[in-house]
Amino acid sequence: MSEITHRFIIRNNLIEEGQLHRIAELRELLPQPYMRITLILKNGAVLYDSSVEDYTAMENHFMRPEIQKSIRNGIGANIRRSETTMQEYYYYAKSYPDYFVRTAVVYNIQVRNFLRAERLFIVFIFVVFTVIGITLYFFTTRLADAITKLKDFSIQAGKNELVEHEISFPENELGIIGSQIIRIYNKLKKTKDELANEREKLFNHLNALNEGIAFFSAERKKTLSNSHFIQYVNIISRKAVQTVEDIFKIDDFKKLNKFLKEYQTDRVELNVESLPQISYVIAAGEKFFKVQSILFPDKSFEVMLSDITRLEKRRLMKQQLTSNIAHELKTPLASIKGYLETMIGNWSVPPEKQKYFLEKAYLQAERLTNLINDVSLLNNIEDAGELFRFKPVDLKLVIDEVYENFANRIVDKKIFFLREVAPGSIINGNDSLLFSIFQNFVENSINYGGFGISVAIRIYHEDDKYYYLSYSDTGPGISGKHLPRIFERFYRVDPGRTRDTGGTGLGLAIVKNAIQLHKGEISVRNKSEGGIEFLFSLAKQ
Ligand code: ADP
Repeated sequence: MSEITHRFIIRNNLIEEGQLHRIAELRELLPQPYMRITLILKNGAVLYDSSVEDYTAMENHFMRPEIQKSIRNGIGANIRRSETTMQEYYYYAKSYPDYFVRTAVVYNIQVRNFLRAERLFIVFIFVVFTVIGITLYFFTTRLADAITKLKDFSIQAGKNELVEHEISFPENELGIIGSQIIRIYNKLKKTKDELANEREKLFNHLNALNEGIAFFSAERKKTLSNSHFIQYVNIISRKAVQTVEDIFKIDDFKKLNKFLKEYQTDRVELNVESLPQISYVIAAGEKFFKVQSILFPDKSFEVMLSDITRLEKRRLMKQQLTSNIAHELKTPLASIKGYLETMIGNWSVPPEKQKYFLEKAYLQAERLTNLINDVSLLNNIEDAGELFRFKPVDLKLVIDEVYENFANRIVDKKIFFLREVAPGSIINGNDSLLFSIFQNFVENSINYGGFGISVAIRIYHEDDKYYYLSYSDTGPGISGKHLPRIFERFYRVDPGRTRDTGGTGLGLAIVKNAIQLHKGEISVRNKSEGGIEFLFSLAKQ
């Protein structure tokens, strides 16, 4: 009612126009026409009172309890006996900027009930709001808990970490969704990690391979490749190739392109049992590569490049060796046959001549034996080096034995033999191979060095791992143009002469291979003062 009165005053400009008596009009609108309306100025002076005719004479209302309360709280109420009307009233005052509007009703049963009802209503509203408040509090804290945990989870997931499965969510729908999300996330993460692990393993495996390998999608885009692959493609194309996919532009891979073109069409259905494959060899300068490709049912494919240079060279070498051996065997065999034929066809040949022919035939048979022995020794070193038993061997003893073996011939040729190898120079080696090394050296010096030369075998240096040895003689040496090839099989400086000496042309090849089997290396040079020198190492362990 205070509000209505206030608006009524403002709207009708009652104060300025001195029309305050019109407030009485409001009373007619009220359900309780006996309601009293008082307008009080801020200083407490009464401006209008609906129940008092001479309201200008009314005393100052500033100290009225309801006015005091409304000064403090904006509104104020009080029940008391009116000094003006002598009746008990329920006062209600509301403060406005320029005045207070006070309404008052006689405090009878009706008003009492109304106020009680109003109080009850307020209590009811208070209880309802409190209950709603508490419910909301619990609900939102539980919701907030789930949301905070989900937020923590999202941060962890963002960092790609595995999330503790034990995160306990509140038992509400959001909590259930939260735990479910974490379970799914962990499962996915585990699978992803496992896949990454497998991929890493595969990648390491591919890189450890000697083959170059690359996988391509059906659109010929690389999905995976190892480092050998690009390296081999570079060698094959003889230029710097940037990406693995460049192979489809290189001429040497024309055959592969053709193969892919033939099968990578929708018209061709592929089944797992018989996947199309291709395999061919590319020669790139000194090197040979095998190209292999398999096409998978989804039209993706794999390309494998293998460096078969060693195998191919070995194959060619074996081929050459076989024809060399055949050739080497033919000569002594032809001689033996010739001597025997002469004897069979001429029984009248005098006995001395017969003896001569037989001796010649025997010598050739000896050559054959040497040749076969050398070939099989070389083969064994090369193909089955692991069959040679290694044990601690004293080099001094080996060299002494070789000396003893050739002592007569050394004396015959007046060779001065110097051994600077201390006893107890032990290496882990195979004694018969070590014997072969020194035997071949000494035999060559005897055969090609001439009379009165000196031979020296020395250990000139040693370290933790190796003995470094020198074998030299003061013979004619070997001319520069032959020097680089003397370790080749069947290479002879003077073929005619070496055959006379019974040499097979395999001696130095055996020496080199035997030294390599002892983890050593060998080189050769002509000494400035004349003669040949071999420098080589032998591993101690
Ligand atoms: P062979 O069985 O013919 O002796 P090697 O492989 O032992 O074959 O030697 C290869 C060639 O190296 C020989 O034919 C020979 O001409 C030459 N040669 C090897 N050792 C000496 C040496 N000490 N002095 C001169 N020439 C040598």
